[in-house]
Order: sequence, then C-alpha cells, then structure tokens
Amino acid sequence: MIVSENIPFIKKWISEEKEKGKSIGFVPTMGALHAGHLELMQKAKKENDILVASIFVNPIQFNNPEDLKKYPRTPGQDKKLLEDIGCDLVFIPQEKEMYPEGEVIKEYDFGELTNVMEGKFRPGHFNGVAVIVKKLFDIVKPNRAYFGEKDFQQLAVIKKLVEMEKIPVQIVPCPTVREPDGLAMSSRNKRLSPEQRKAAPFIYQMLQETKKRRDHLCVRPLRQMIINRFEGNDNFKLEYFEIVDDVNLQPISAWNNKVGTVACVAAWIGNVRLIDNLRII
Ligand code: AMP
Repeated sequence: MIVSENIPFIKKWISEEKEKGKSIGFVPTMGALHAGHLELMQKAKKENDILVASIFVNPIQFNNPEDLKKYPRTPGQDKKLLEDIGCDLVFIPQEKEMYPEGEVIKEYDFGELTNVMEGKFRPGHFNGVAVIVKKLFDIVKPNRAYFGEKDFQQLAVIKKLVEMEKIPVQIVPCPTVREPDGLAMSSRNKRLSPEQRKAAPFIYQMLQETKKRRDHLCVRPLRQMIINRFEGNDNFKLEYFEIVDDVNLQPISAWNNKVGTVACVAAWIGNVRLIDNLRII
C-alpha cells in the first residue's frame, strides 16, 4: 500500500493507472476508521481495479472548534486497517496543501437542500464538505466514489455538487453499518463514556419506532410523539427530528407512498453529537 501526502505524486500515479485502463474507486474519510468505513472500502475494491482512500480531518467543515479539537485521530491503526483490506493508495494530505495561504474558499449554493437539519444547525458545514470533496475529486479523478447513507444529507449534497460542477464520477451510496445493538457506527462513538454508550441505541430505537407507527399515525403526531420520547429521556438533548423526502430533504406533512421518505435525527449525549436516519418509505 502506498501512503502519500504528495499531490503531484498521487496525480501522476493515478493517471498512469488510468492510462493502463484501470478503474479507480475512491473513499474519502476523516480517519478513526471503523467497520462502517471498511464496508465502503470493500465495496469500492470489489467494483474497481484500484482502491484509493483519503484521510483528512477537514477543518473548514467543523462549525464547532471543540468538536474539531476532540475529533478522534488514530492514524497508525487506520493505516493498518487499510493495508489489511488491500487498499492500493492512501492519501493523507497536509492542511496547508489543501488550503494554501490566502486562498479564497468557494461558496456554493445548494438551495433548499442545505436549509434544513445539518445545514440549518451546522452553518457552513456542507460548504466545507463540498469544497474538500471537490478538491479531492480533482486530485484523485475517481471513476466511482463511495459515501455512506449514515450521512444522508451529505450524500444528497455530494450528488448535487457533482451535477452542478459536472464532475465525471459515479456516486455510490452505501447502507449504514450498525453495532449489534443498532447504534450507527461513527468515529464520534469513541468519545462516549460507558454509560453514554449504553444509552446511545435509543436513537435507532426511535427511528424504528417511527417506521413501525407509520401506518397508524399521521406525520405530525408521529413526529411529536418521537420528540416527546426524546424529551422524556434525560440522557439526550434532541437537536432535530424530521421526516423528510429523500430527494430535496424537505419535511413532509402527509404520507405519500410514491415519495421516498426518511426519518432523520441529531441528538447530543453529553458533549457528543450523534446523527442517524432510517428510510421509512
Ligand atoms: P467520515 O470519516 O465520518 O467523514 O466518513 C467517511 C465516509 O464513511 C462517509 O461517506 C460516511 O457517510 C461513511 N460512514 C461513516 N459511518 C458510516 C456507517 N456507520 N455506515 C456506513 N457508512 C458510514
């Protein structure tokens, strides 16, 4: 496995592989890798000749300095996991290379897509994600790039970015990987205390409850019921719980079996913020 921070080297190596007719599958990450990330890697490896991963904790997508500071970093373990699954190239850029001094950061307009949920509660977050993903795509020039449905709104933003910038890449969505008790795998789970970790599967239980009650309750009372359940649980501070369409991610007011529908949640356990979602139609 090649490990490199050198952008000209990476570009040259990849372009030579592409000239030989090899396809490139790419998985961008922020490291602290877990089985969810590895599932994306395995899929990318299976569907392409070459697997390229990147590890970069992107400072401009953090709207909370504390979150950036405390974001888990496990570079040694990450490299070992990537080596073990047969990753061909891992790109670990330096911050100053990705954001040269004096560079003016591009501002995207994703319209209503970013006016809700993560976009609303984490101002600037998706612009930061879009900027780094565009830069990474320009370097790696993948045929296919793999993103988790765990970050459902991010996936929608990336699809929109690719369409707006006319980037020749296929975006491949990958199902959320969960712990046996239902908790969605996340690098931030490493920050939970044993008690918080025990409480955390409540988030997925509430999403399952939403799906189960869908046939018996209208959207508004069901949403309110779930909000009340969070408010009755002292372990959590709910940031949002929304039931949205799966294209524009706008809250729906009535069930419609013709529209894909996803329940999305963000909640704090102590000072750790977790998100999750579940398709209910
Ligand atoms: P991150 O390192 O958190 O930026 O995640 C890198 C990629 O892995 C993103 O496309 C995430 O959506 C995806 N990912 C993170 N956690 C999971 C999970 N539990 N299941 C599936 N994909 C995930």
